Amino acid sequence: MGALPQEAEYVVVGGGTSGNVVAARLAEVGLDVLVLEAGPDFGPEGSAAWPADIVDATRLGRSHDWGYDSGDSYPWRVGFERARAIGGCSDFNGCTQTWGHRRDYDSWAEAGLTGWSTEDLLPLFEEGMRRMRVHTYRADDLTPWQRAWYEAAPAAGMPRLADLNDVDESAGFAPEAVNIVDGVRINTAFAYLDPVRPLPNIRIVGDALVDRVIVTNGRATGVVVRHQGETVTVRAGTIVLAGGTYNSPTVLLRSGIGPYAQLAVLDIPLVQHLPGVGENLHDQPFLLMSWSGSEEMGAAMERARAAGWCPDEQAMGKAASSFDTEAFDLHFLPYSPTHLIGRKRWSVGVSALQPRSRGFVRLRGTDPEAKPVIDHRFLADPEGVDVAVLAEGATMLREIAADPELAPLVGAEIHPGPETFDRDALVAHLYRNPDNYWHPVGTCKMGTGDDAMSVVDERARVHGIDGLRIADCSIMPRIPRATTAMPAVVMGEKVARLLLEEVAAWRATS
Ligand SMILES: Cc1cc2nc3c(=O)[nH]c(=O)nc-3n(C[C@H](O)[C@H](O)[C@H](O)COP(=O)(O)OP(=O)(O)OC[C@H]3O[C@@H](n4cnc5c(N)ncnc54)[C@H](O)[C@@H]3O)c2cc1C
Repeated sequence: MGALPQEAEYVVVGGGTSGNVVAARLAEVGLDVLVLEAGPDFGPEGSAAWPADIVDATRLGRSHDWGYDSGDSYPWRVGFERARAIGGCSDFNGCTQTWGHRRDYDSWAEAGLTGWSTEDLLPLFEEGMRRMRVHTYRADDLTPWQRAWYEAAPAAGMPRLADLNDVDESAGFAPEAVNIVDGVRINTAFAYLDPVRPLPNIRIVGDALVDRVIVTNGRATGVVVRHQGETVTVRAGTIVLAGGTYNSPTVLLRSGIGPYAQLAVLDIPLVQHLPGVGENLHDQPFLLMSWSGSEEMGAAMERARAAGWCPDEQAMGKAASSFDTEAFDLHFLPYSPTHLIGRKRWSVGVSALQPRSRGFVRLRGTDPEAKPVIDHRFLADPEGVDVAVLAEGATMLREIAADPELAPLVGAEIHPGPETFDRDALVAHLYRNPDNYWHPVGTCKMGTGDDAMSVVDERARVHGIDGLRIADCSIMPRIPRATTAMPAVVMGEKVARLLLEEVAAWRATS
């Protein structure tokens, strides 16, 4: 465990997916960088300290979770998993790397966010893919469960595609692009931090929980950190918040930056009234559908497992519901956890990618260890579009499952099951069983000065506070039609470039 320095030129709060990218890019050019990560730093790739579940790319990581859930928002608790360790959620995720569609980022630029169009970001996606050591499976690499859905997809009008990341392409099913090498999940600590770890100008401190940012005369000057049982202050030239969608807003709120009324209730002195902090929370609502499987499929998967490589996720489909006029708004994700015994072993997830519902993250109290209130308000849009899109997706999946080649392999639907074959019953089931796709975004959204609910500007600067940036999924104004791991890397790459541009300009004039 590293000692805590008293000051640094750049303090990156959160050594997660985006934060590590920013830290590495600044350190590479010799800037003085301190990474403060609330969870442990397990060291470089190959270190024995890395937990097996985080390294094993065949299934999702589970250990070192923040333990967040929906609390009392729904009839039962929905887990909102988030990794608390160096690497952040790049330690946990399914390794699927998707970019979305051209319309996603172009719509950000059209809203006035100069520099965030698809053409601006494409080189950063390409660089992120290279650094994260991403490769695309071939159809021959797919396990029998994955391959069966990929083969059957044209039955529902979804052509087989070579990959998912043509930003001008719409419907289709493809083998995934994944950041897996020799069975290892390549997280951003391996991909970005390892090359700079030997440098003297970067320090990485684990088990360092940032409570709040200190603001003096409108400028962020340091952070208050809990480390090894003590609360200490670290002075900073520039602070980059990269705590993720649930935690970047909570750090701001504890710092007095947020909606005045919420802060007043908690007796937090107001530093900057920003009503958008913690608002605009959205993720893509999700339904996991499961089938009974068949003896033939079970035997084929056992053979694949015995052969040594049988990951839970490998292929993905994208499709347009009747509500989408631009590109696509549904993902289908075959999921085959062969380690599970019994039910839900033979599954496909469906997700509505462009949700209209918006929720929020709020503080329960000022203790930085207190879990925040996270209410996604899934399927709460008054027009009922989110639930309708998800229901259409479930119906499309049922059409694929009914394909004569596929049907005998997948067996009977067991979840949500025949009692939801009627559309009204399906919709009622969806309202009763909200679920997430692990892609929360938007709680510190980027926007122009005339958007009162925006928190950062197009250079990722927190409105009204000098020396404070945010670089993570929380600044996305609207979620792309994508899973969010590679977009999170791109957030880091982009904010790092903005900072480096300013360093270059400052050096040129001084
Ligand atoms: C189980 C799971 C599966 C997923 N599967 C996929 C997938 O297959 N493909 C895909 O594209 N996306 C997937 N995702 C989503 C994707 O991984 C995330 O959207 C992305 O990694 C988030 O990046 P981030 O930088 O915004 O946040 P994070 O990666 O969560 O980073 C935030 C970091 O900040 C630290 N931190 C937070 N608060 C503090 C504080 N106060 N002080 C100090 N440190 C702090 C955290 O511990 C963490 O390390 C998945 C996510 C999960 C959880």
